[in-house]
Amino acid sequence: MNTASHIPTTPFTPPPQTARLPFPYRAEALALAEARQRLGTGTGEGMDWRRVVAAATPWVEAVRAHPAPFWAMESLLKEYPISSAEGLALMRLAEALLRVPDVETAIALTADQLGRGEFDSGDGSKGLLAGLSASAIALSKKFLPDAESGSGLLGRLGARTVVAATVRALQLLGRQFVLGRSITEAMGEADAQRQAQPGLRYSYDMLGEGARTDADAMRYLRSYQNAIEVIAASPSGGKGPEASDGISIKLSALFPRYEDAQRERVFAELLPRVWTLVERAAPAHLNLTIDAEEVDRLELSLELLDTLAGRIAAVYPLWRGFGLAVQAYQTRALAVVDEVAAIARKHKLRFMLRLVKGAYWDGEAKRAQEQGLPAYPVFTRKPHTDVAYLACVQALLGHRELIYTQFATHNAGTIAAIQLMAQGLGAEPGRHFEMQRLHGMAEGIYREVMKDGHTACRVYAPVGEHRDLLAYLVRRLLENGANSSFVHQLADPQVDPAELLASPLLLAHAGEHAEGLPMPVDLYGAGRRNSTGADLTCLAQRAPLDAAVRGTVVPTVAMATPEQCAAAMAMLQAGFAGWSERPLAERAATIRRVGDLLDARLPEFCGLLVKEAHKTLGDCVAEVREAVDFCRYYADLAEQRLAEQVLPGPTGESNVLRLHGRGVFVCISPWNFPLAIFAGQVVAALVAGNTVAAKPAEQTPAVAQRMVALLHEAGVPADALQLLHGLGETVGAALVADARTAGVCFTGSTQVARLINRTLALKDGPIVPLIAETGGLNAMVVDSTALPEQVVDAVVQSAFRSAGQRCSALRLLCVHEGIADGVIEMLKGAMSELHVGDPAELRCDVGPVIDDEAFAGIGAQVQRLKAEARLLGETPVVSSFPRLIAPVAFELGAISELKQEIFGPVLHVVRWGGDVEAVVREVNALGYGLTFGIQTRIDSRAERLARLARIGNVYVNRNMIGAVVGVQPFGGEGLSGTGPKAGGPHYLYRFCAEQTVTINTAAAGGNAALLAGGS
Ligand SMILES: Cc1cc2nc3c(=O)[nH]c(=O)nc-3n(C[C@H](O)[C@H](O)[C@H](O)COP(=O)(O)OP(=O)(O)OC[C@H]3O[C@@H](n4cnc5c(N)ncnc54)[C@H](O)[C@@H]3O)c2cc1C
Repeated sequence: MNTASHIPTTPFTPPPQTARLPFPYRAEALALAEARQRLGTGTGEGMDWRRVVAAATPWVEAVRAHPAPFWAMESLLKEYPISSAEGLALMRLAEALLRVPDVETAIALTADQLGRGEFDSGDGSKGLLAGLSASAIALSKKFLPDAESGSGLLGRLGARTVVAATVRALQLLGRQFVLGRSITEAMGEADAQRQAQPGLRYSYDMLGEGARTDADAMRYLRSYQNAIEVIAASPSGGKGPEASDGISIKLSALFPRYEDAQRERVFAELLPRVWTLVERAAPAHLNLTIDAEEVDRLELSLELLDTLAGRIAAVYPLWRGFGLAVQAYQTRALAVVDEVAAIARKHKLRFMLRLVKGAYWDGEAKRAQEQGLPAYPVFTRKPHTDVAYLACVQALLGHRELIYTQFATHNAGTIAAIQLMAQGLGAEPGRHFEMQRLHGMAEGIYREVMKDGHTACRVYAPVGEHRDLLAYLVRRLLENGANSSFVHQLADPQVDPAELLASPLLLAHAGEHAEGLPMPVDLYGAGRRNSTGADLTCLAQRAPLDAAVRGTVVPTVAMATPEQCAAAMAMLQAGFAGWSERPLAERAATIRRVGDLLDARLPEFCGLLVKEAHKTLGDCVAEVREAVDFCRYYADLAEQRLAEQVLPGPTGESNVLRLHGRGVFVCISPWNFPLAIFAGQVVAALVAGNTVAAKPAEQTPAVAQRMVALLHEAGVPADALQLLHGLGETVGAALVADARTAGVCFTGSTQVARLINRTLALKDGPIVPLIAETGGLNAMVVDSTALPEQVVDAVVQSAFRSAGQRCSALRLLCVHEGIADGVIEMLKGAMSELHVGDPAELRCDVGPVIDDEAFAGIGAQVQRLKAEARLLGETPVVSSFPRLIAPVAFELGAISELKQEIFGPVLHVVRWGGDVEAVVREVNALGYGLTFGIQTRIDSRAERLARLARIGNVYVNRNMIGAVVGVQPFGGEGLSGTGPKAGGPHYLYRFCAEQTVTINTAAAGGNAALLAGGS
């Protein structure tokens, strides 16, 4: 076998970056109209769908009358739909169970998930368990070699337990979708299947995607290289790309940073790897297809195609087997098809193009919502995707001299429509196009379709071990289980064929985007608009941010003198009456205006944040959005919670409760969120009716000054808000000690919070409330059901993003001993892939720490740890940008060895075994309680651990940073702060004084209301 050492040194240089496609966030109706127009069906009448129905109905009826042989997935999903508790449990088991290394945890996981649904009648005689056990054991005898039960988890469990039956059933599920564990085994299986259907070709997919480390990527690369060599040498190769078996590759498997932000590296490192595959596939005239992945890689994938095509044209001009997959659910799908054709024409090549609908729909929808994007980049109604697919069919058949299309669909209606369109245009199966299906799916439909004797069909056939199957398996489960999917409805006899084959052209009339799926901006309902984000992979969205960063000069802000502080406090005290007496609605409207102005000035504030606070662009966008959310959330909250309330009481009396501002609030904020925390404190105090003396961190006064100017611009009067920049020891201390201070809101270190508390306590006069949000020794507990890739993503983001300078950042990773070695290895690999450098560059993952003092302090801690603890990994740093600290991880012997928060990219790791609850108790004993991560697939365990943790923000199976206003109210307990949580429903009360007014209405001469009601 050739190895990856074959990678050539000839570099691929990225062309200047330009947008090849239209703006991804256009109105869905517009994209749909384009698809209709392309199809020539402006009214939906242009295509004779009756002929489609006539062709497809017999297929559907035949499949229902003679289903394909038992397959685990269909049977299980028929009984337990994915939308049911049982279906969900099944999916979660399928995703996790087979990777669990220890028997006890496997049993706990199975009991937890099966306990969630009505799987069992109790006596074990009915329900899934019985069915599952019986069918699994019976079928496994047929499909699984005996050897499998002798070793591994199953062997250790013994054959009689429920868990063993479940493991068996899940192995079967895996077998349904994987053709073989090795390429040789898979090709043997393919040959066996060709005995029954000689027309079948295969495209092998060496399982694996989303490599997190270079070592994994190289492992995948070698398996692809080997597979191509084996195919090329086999009798199923050598017949040209249309008739030979081929290969499908995922670029995310071949390079851990296949991202737009890492464009230079993608060209320099990923492309040479792909080229090694081209060098094997092209001389053998095989079909090599690049799978389609997430939308944010789409533009990049076209650039790669163009660059590779340029070299292919030079080296293998006669090769006609290079291709890629295109997803029709993209609202830009037609433009992609045209662009691919243009690239083929430019390089005088013929491509193969697999047209799919798309497998990441739910993930794309979630991303658009989370990032506050202007629209969805994918269609949101299933018929829209179907119409776009048909429009792409039309376009592709029109480009058939440049593109051989591989129509990948399991939908009988879509298949019939393709055939009719191809006939109409004179396109020939096997010469201009072929059909494709996934192994383990739609076998029945294609059995019927292929009876015509001329349909060319290729099977996409995953190859690999179970551990690489999981992500793929979950996508298949979702596809099989989704109510909207064709295969799901086909399996349901209640769905009438007429309904199953209804024309998408007619269905697509109904509405613009999906009901029940709000636009990202409307995520929080009619009341509060979501803040506007930016897709940094989209040039049109990124350009204004880049320009702002380039154009920003950080102004100098003068420090306040003691006299200025005193004068400001006097002014704010005098201004209190005027501001607090403004109607609540007016104050709320002003703060909403602040939010809207800030929302509109995203680039300007990002520029300032990059330049003054040295944050990465992604962090800056998130920070501005958080500040906007604070404004809108607190404005709404004030109107809901601070309005006058009528209280119940006896007749002849009225009782009301009113809340009003306390007076002058001193708000002291840190440099790590110089906009979001600063703005959050100030607008909360203001909207509650206080006037505010705002003291920003010494390191970041310019952001604060700009924000205060914006607050004034929006209508907050000067005597309600004053900025007082200066040192904590002087300006901060003076403000806290001032007799006029009616409340203090502080975010920063626990030590300073204590100092403030003591200063306040020593003062005569009213007892002044303190809202303090302080640091944390934040831990994440990982058990052996967790998915290592998900853990590593969460750890890298939580521990190292923002150079670890978040109070929520992960400091202590507690990982189960059964998976610790693997997780640590992957973590080390992922850490080596990070880019540490200038935060103004898009590729930067980790920027500098805030100042020289921090740099020296963290550096000294790292040196100490290097002497005292075991170094696990450290990111290499090549940039000479100042104050960079390399992300670093150390192993400790015990949780109790962790003594203090290091406010930088420094992670501690401990291994645990035995009782997971003891781990949480030890974490509690550290005394802090800010954020906590749990990684487990045992839902009841997650729930129990969350309850046990004396910690403010608990995150399960995700990262533990980036709390969203109103979604994850933020703040802790113990040494981590006083509460109430920022961005939560109880926050504003602490800024208020309360008053009840009781009026004896009878006092003025009798209870008229009571008398009027009597007889
Ligand atoms: C050979 C082959 C290779 C494949 N390779 C890839 C690949 O590289 N990349 C990839 O992403 N997928 C790939 N797929 C997966 C493919 O996207 C799904 O199998 C396909 O979407 C199912 O389409 P269908 O026509 O069979 O089913 P249908 O049931 O007709 O369509 C289901 C599809 O509709 C879309 N959909 C569902 N709900 C909505 C909604 N509310 N709004 C808009 N659209 C919606 C989804 O894309 C869903 O997958 C491949 C499939 C095959 C058969």
